[in-house]
Amino acid sequence: VLTRKPTNLAVATNPAHELKVLSSDVPEPGPEQCLVHVRATGICGSDVHFWKHGNIGDSVITKDCGLGHESAGVVVKTGSNVQGLKVGDRVAIEAGIPCSKPTCDFCRTGRYNGCPNMIFYSSPPVDGTLRRYHAHNEAWLHRIPDNISYEEGALLEPLSVALAGIERSGLRLGDPLVICGAGPIGIVTLLAANAAGAAPIVITDLDESRLKVAKSLVPRVRTVKVEMEKSAEDIALDIKTALGQEAKLVIECTGVESSIHSAVYATRFGGTVFIVGVGSKSMQRYPFMHASFREIDIRFQFRYMETYPRAISLVSEGLIDLKPLVTHRFTLEQAQEAFEAASTPAAKAIKVQLLDD
Ligand code: NAD
Ligand code: ZN
Repeated sequence: VLTRKPTNLAVATNPAHELKVLSSDVPEPGPEQCLVHVRATGICGSDVHFWKHGNIGDSVITKDCGLGHESAGVVVKTGSNVQGLKVGDRVAIEAGIPCSKPTCDFCRTGRYNGCPNMIFYSSPPVDGTLRRYHAHNEAWLHRIPDNISYEEGALLEPLSVALAGIERSGLRLGDPLVICGAGPIGIVTLLAANAAGAAPIVITDLDESRLKVAKSLVPRVRTVKVEMEKSAEDIALDIKTALGQEAKLVIECTGVESSIHSAVYATRFGGTVFIVGVGSKSMQRYPFMHASFREIDIRFQFRYMETYPRAISLVSEGLIDLKPLVTHRFTLEQAQEAFEAASTPAAKAIKVQLLDD
């Protein structure tokens, strides 16, 4: 094995909400797999949630479970049937592997993110890709060109979420757009919507510093600082004032109920509230009558499908610059500090990554 480091390290959590750096052997890739030396992995809100709360919906941490699904690295060994990749190829890892069987309606009809047999790395009990060495099916490794760094390669995962949302929301050139939430997902959505020609664009957040980041990346974006003591209608008024009109489309990237309310109130007749955010509540109320009388479409996104090739082109061709999103970098051994930075608002992190050289 062309592995420069003998021990495989993996960052895991357990039912006691501990973070552990586990050592294990380097896996042997199966015939269809490549062994990847993972060089960069981003921490996602869901990783923090699994650590602190032990579950996301029905997905529960019942034993040590590895975290992470935003990864890129380099192929260090190939299985016997691997055709298209070779040792030394730099790749982004698509963490969800659908069954791809012709008997699966969702795989067969091109909606593979709905595959009921999806194996998603970092969704318990499946370990994540926040590890040194990871064996992954060749079909779900995407070669990245030399002008995309490993850090950017890892960010293709959240960018994929944004691209999936933009694709299904039907955003068109010149559409007045509102993005709710300026976390990593809201910010990559902003970068993608900017590249896609949305105009004008408003972004909201509770946190002034996140709005500043948004503005520094896309100077033409208009920002609205949400004051929680205001009513949803009043927040919507602030949003419409900043936008200069009602929104044709709102891409909601918080999942917070009150934010969805203001999104609905800020939308014009026939417009769309497209919800990418996933709240912590399984039940939410929403302004039914307002949405009904205005034919407002309220729609949702679950992960992504077929986004990596486009994400790679957009970054490689310079339409989207992901580099400024990485604010904090740690080694695998520094997992505890990394997760503290990702979960402490005072750290002012956008994206925390763990790197291995
Ligand atoms: P994040 O928590 O870092 O960012 C959310 C941002 O929303 C924060 O900056 C917060 O200050 C802001 N916010 C909270 N309440 C608000 C309000 N009422 N009005 C305006 N802003 C408000 O999370 P993230 O990593 O950016 O992810 C955003 C959401 O997207 C999460 O809910 C996450 O679960 C979801 N997500 C969905 C998918 C999917 O497949 N649909 C994939 C990845 C993430
Ligand atoms: Zn399937």
